[in-house]
Formats: sequence, structure tokens, C-alpha cells
Amino acid sequence: MPRYANVIIDISHEKLDKTFQYKIPTDQQDVIKVGMQVEVPFGNGDRKSTAFVVELTDTPEYDISKLKEIKGVVKESIAIESQLIALAAWMRKNYGGTMNHALRTVLPVKQKSREKKQRFIWLAMSRKKARESLAVFEKKHNTARAKLLSSLLEQNPLPYEVATRKLNIAAAVIRAMENMGILRVEEKRAYRSPLREMKQSRKRVVLNEEQRQAVDVIWKDFSKGKYQTYLLRGVTGSGKTAVYIELIEQVVKRGRQAIVLIPEIALTYQTVLRFYQRFGERVSILNSKMSPGERYDQFERAKNGEVDVMIGPRSALFTPFSNLGIIIIDEEHENSYKSETIPRYHAREAAIERARMADASVVLGSATPSMDSYYQAKTGNYVLLTLEKRIEEKPLPRCYIVDLREELRQGNRSILSEKLQELMNQRLKKHQQIMLFINRRGLAGFVSCRACGHVVKCPHCDVSLSQHNNGRLMCHYCGFTSDMPKKCPECGSNYIGGFKAGTQKIEEIVKKRFSGARVLRMDLDTTRNKDGYEKILSSFANQEADILIGTQMIVKGHDFPNVTLVGVLAADLSLHVSDFHGSERTFQLITQAAGRAGRGKQAGEVVIQTYSPDHYAIELAQKQDYEKFYEIEISYRELMQYPPIGHMLVMLVASEDEMTAILSSELLAAKIRQAQENGKLIGLQMIGPADAGVAKVKDIYRKVLYFKHQDYLVLIQIKDVLEQFVGRHREFGNVIIQFDFDPMNGF
Ligand code: ADP
Ligand code: ZN
Ligand code: ZN
Repeated sequence: MPRYANVIIDISHEKLDKTFQYKIPTDQQDVIKVGMQVEVPFGNGDRKSTAFVVELTDTPEYDISKLKEIKGVVKESIAIESQLIALAAWMRKNYGGTMNHALRTVLPVKQKSREKKQRFIWLAMSRKKARESLAVFEKKHNTARAKLLSSLLEQNPLPYEVATRKLNIAAAVIRAMENMGILRVEEKRAYRSPLREMKQSRKRVVLNEEQRQAVDVIWKDFSKGKYQTYLLRGVTGSGKTAVYIELIEQVVKRGRQAIVLIPEIALTYQTVLRFYQRFGERVSILNSKMSPGERYDQFERAKNGEVDVMIGPRSALFTPFSNLGIIIIDEEHENSYKSETIPRYHAREAAIERARMADASVVLGSATPSMDSYYQAKTGNYVLLTLEKRIEEKPLPRCYIVDLREELRQGNRSILSEKLQELMNQRLKKHQQIMLFINRRGLAGFVSCRACGHVVKCPHCDVSLSQHNNGRLMCHYCGFTSDMPKKCPECGSNYIGGFKAGTQKIEEIVKKRFSGARVLRMDLDTTRNKDGYEKILSSFANQEADILIGTQMIVKGHDFPNVTLVGVLAADLSLHVSDFHGSERTFQLITQAAGRAGRGKQAGEVVIQTYSPDHYAIELAQKQDYEKFYEIEISYRELMQYPPIGHMLVMLVASEDEMTAILSSELLAAKIRQAQENGKLIGLQMIGPADAGVAKVKDIYRKVLYFKHQDYLVLIQIKDVLEQFVGRHREFGNVIIQFDFDPMNGF
């Protein structure tokens, strides 16, 4: 039983890491848990204060005789923070890092500058009455009063300073009007809704049979207090969002709240509007463009009960709703749900944990569920629900596969195949729109043969080797290296090299080939400024362009009814990423990209260009056969013991000094090997150390160690052991370590 508790006194304090240690009374040692609110004597006068327990430990940090004792647990504490702190503790345990990292992830820190309370003037009567009073003031030439009242009619509430400084209204006038009951002055901050400018309409969709059934299953369970995780697999355009909205409405009617996670990139005006139309200002959003203060405001609104639904990317999961009923994760297969900063949590797993604590349901939606989620559904941990049909039975698009090796043989060295050019011409004549998609995510530098499609892979790990600056090829899992081949080892052709094709280059080619066409490009460059992204999308939606060229950001959830042709320019790029997700990503990307075509009245067509036309990910994406793809892929994962069958842990060891990085990673590897030799950690496979995918960042050298085991708990054990080992030894003073469980994006 842990004997000491670290607590934080002021949760809104800028320094969440300001913890204080207390002794736990012996009879309370099995009662006190992380997250609980306790009473403690605080400060010199031993003032009675409440505090949150953030960590339990057996090692005292101070002189034991000076430690004070916890007085007791706060009875009937329902502070939402308790739950979030417990979630932080869970995240820390499962993903590594310090408790402070975890707390900062789940609790928004109040900005010091914002703590100053601002005063606001609020209208205290109906607008109609106010207009009548205004007329009276104007008639009486009460200029100051009239000016303030008409300003209030335009902006309510009005910051007090605006009235006094900008409008030059005397404080006495404000007080007089307050006494007349026209207005009131309040210190409370008004948290603005970020959605004020949206237009509300009364349009309501009637669910079809399939949608109805999905809602019914979930709702029946919910009504019985049976909270589960559901996986809603619905083909693109099958109306998943309508299902979410219906469920949320029911949940909200019961006085509970909803969190909707959507990848940032799909969090467009179009999407938010659909929620706004049903819930009005009871919906709020979060996005990465908001300042910390704005985000804090939205969390405050949620806590104060001003909103029922929060929509946002990963971090919206930590919205402090006190009576959470449902968490929805749309496009659950998306990589962006995995955090790339410490703790490297997966929003899906964290959501399931939060829902468990809060007694809430979780709905995961996707046209192409992740292998992980489908595996959970197959093994009975999630409930599987499917939407097989597109809305209004619109057919899925017709899909062609073009073999780029064949194109080369025919003498076409362009990135646009004959078939694609022909179909593009047809569309341009008919004034229909085209999307061209290039997946740059895989541009880690794999090497392939353009004549036969051969890709150079690691003989030990079955992942593509990556080209490094020094020209050598390397495996990021095990460190295997080889020289860059001059000729294809498979067919002897000279057309072997790194695959290069950027959106900008493609734009040039397309403009040259189709000189009359209006072309838009969407990638990191063109969307850097604040509205770049929305602007391009709305311009394309308004048919101000014929062709949209883009990276994976164009395949997400957008609805363009006039798009009848989608071209996937080089499907292989995602196939050969240097980790085990290549096939899964490729299947997802092609299926999602294809889903953009033919959402309007005319049927759609898709051209997939590839050097590996026989690869199962590509063949089955063409047929939109998710089930078959899953079967093949899961047997591959089984064979290699990759997730979701086995589990993986990557440990990053980084240092400014290259030798330190190398020696430290080898020392840690030796430590594990030693344990293995002593008969511990049975079934563990260790690979590396090797260079990380990005081997050097800002002059910091990065090494990785991979661990594979059937049991996630064993990996957690390894993390704990290594974390403690590093903490105890001074040699590691200049070494940064980080952990990533079941990695998705890599280091
Ligand atoms: P998904 O998220 O599955 O790709 P959406 O929820 O975006 O699909 O739905 C696709 C389109 O169909 C949207 O324009 C939506 O408004 C419309 N829609 C959804 N459900 C219905 C319905 N029951 N009746 C009519 N239209 C619907
Ligand atoms: Zn070849
Ligand atoms: Zn390898």
C-alpha cells in the first residue's frame, strides 16, 4: 500500500507541477486513489484546504517527520477534475512520461493574463422594450444613454471598458441605467461561442432503415444503462454523421453531454454546420488555430453547462463535461488520433477509458476501420454495426487500376496515364470536376524499380528500406543497412531510384497538359495561413475550379457533388512506408479517395495508378472489399506478430552527443538482454538499437529500440523498468527517453 500522496492544491494554477506531499493515514491507505479530492492542512497556519491527489508513492520526497497527514476524503466529491486526473494517471501508466505531462494533457491550464476579471454590461430587458426606451432617450436628447443603449442593442454584452473609453459614457450614467433596470454590470466573463455567425435552418433528415437500426441498437443499450463501445462501419456516403446526430440528440435529452472527435482536417464549416443546425449554440468546437485562452473559454463553457456537445480533434476528449453520455470518434482509423507528444496516447483507447469512468457509450465510425478496431469487434470487445448502402442507393464508383510499369513499357513516362488523361478530357468537356490525389505521407524515401515495381526491403523485418542522406539504405526497425543498388536486383533495369513526385510538380504537369483547365492545389504550402484550407475547399465546392490536386488532406469527408473522377496518382507511396501499416494505409486511402467520386447525381469513376497492381491492398480497395482485406491483413499481422495481434513498444533514446545516444541505447538493450538471459521477459523480442526514422533533429541524435510481445502489460513493465533505471543513473543525465506503444507515426 502506498504511504504517501502527492497532491495539487490549486487546479487552475499555472504550475500544475507544484505538488505537495502528505502522509496517508494508515486506515486510509486502501481508500485513497489518484484523482480523489482530499482535505489537507496547508501553509503555516495549517489552513484546511481541499486538494486533488495526483500520485501515490512509497518513497518520501522530504523528511518524513516534517510531512503532514491527509485529514480525510472529501465526501460526495463530484468534481469533474477527479475523473480527468484519474484518466491522466491511466494515461501515464499506459503510455509513459511523467504525471505532469499527463496532467497538462487533460487539464487546460488557465492563462495568468486571463485571470483578471473583465466587467461586462448586459442588456437586462427584452430587445423590444430596449428599442422603446431608446426612442424615449432620443426624444429627450439623452445622448449618452441613447448611445449606450443602441450600442448594447448591437453588441450584448458590451465590455465595460468599451463603454467608458470608446463611447465616453460616464460611470454615473451606467449606474443610473442599471438602477432603472435597463442593464446590469457583471464581472463574470462571457465566453463567446465560436459559432455565432452560423445560420440555423430547420432541415431535418429522416433516417433510413439501416441508420435507424444502428441508432436503435445503441440507444436500447444506453437506456438500460449498458454502456459499450460500438464500431459503426459504413461505406463512404452511407450517412454516418446523421446517425451520430440522432444519438447525440437522445443523449442530450436525458441531460447528458456528448463529445465528437473529428480529425482536424475534416472539421470544416460544412461538417460543423450539420451539428449546429440541430443543436444551435449548445454546440461548441475546438481547433488548433484557437489560442490557449480561447480553448480554455470553451472548456469553461462546457463546465458551466452552457454547451452539450463539443466537437474537435483529439484534445476535445478532455472536455470537462460532468455528465458525459457519449463519445463519438469519426474516421476512427485516422493517424491523427495518436498523439505525437508525451504522453503518446491513442484517443480511441483514452476515450474508452474515460467512457468507462463516466458510464458513457463510445461510437467509432469509419468506412475503413483500423485493423485494431475491427479486430476488437471481431473478438467481441466492440459491438459491430454496419451501413452497407450509400444514401439514396447511389452506386459506388467504378474503379480502374492502371499498371504504371506497363505505361513505361508503352513509352509514357508522364505521371498521368493514358487512361487518366482520356477520362480527364471527357470530364472537362462535360464541365464536371476532377480530384487528383497524391499521397505524400510515404515519402520517407523508399527505393523502387519503375520497370518492374520491385521495392527494396529489409530481409529481417519486411518493411521498406529508407534512403538516407549519405546514399545508403537503412531499416528503421533493426538498423540493417545496404548500398543503394545501381540496377534493379529483380529485373536489371536502370530505372531504380527514390520515388519523387510533389503536388507542385503535378500541378505544373497538369496545367501544361490541360491548358484551359482551372487548377487548384491543396497541400501544406497552400493551406499554411489561417483560412487557406477553407478557402480552397469552398472555391472548389463553388465550382470555381475544374481540378483539385492535393495530398491526403483532400480525401477527408468532403462532399463535392460535381466530382465524377478521382485519380490516385501513385498508390504505392503509402504502400511502402517504412513500418508495418503500409497495406492498411493504402487500402484506407484508396477507399476514402474513391469515396469522393459520384456523390452527386452522376456516377463516379476512379483511376488508381500503381506499380503493384497485384498487391492485395490495391486489388481489394478497387473492389471495396473491406472484409477480405481484413482477413488477409490480419493473417499477415499474425505471422509477424504485429499489432493488433501482438504489441509493440518503441523506445526513443536521444542525446546531443552521438556517442552518448549510441552507448545509452546499447546499455539499455543490454539491461533487457540480461533480464532475458535470467529467464525473465519470456516471449519478448527486442530489435535494435537502430537510427530513428528521423535520425537527427536539431542536432539531437535519435536511436530507437523496438520491443514486441503478445502481452501489452509486459511492455508496460519494460517501460517502467527502463524509466526507473534511467532515473536512477546519473550517466543518463543528458539523455532523453520517450516511449511509444503500438506506434503509428514513428519517431
Ligand atoms: P458518411 O459520413 O457516411 O460519408 P454523410 O453522413 O456525410 O455520410 O452523408 C452523406 C450525405 O447524405 C450527406 O449529404 C447527408 O446530409 C445525406 N444524408 C444522410 N442521411 C440521410 C437520410 N437519411 N436521408 C437523406 N439524406 C441523408
Ligand atoms: Zn526491376
Ligand atoms: Zn530490419
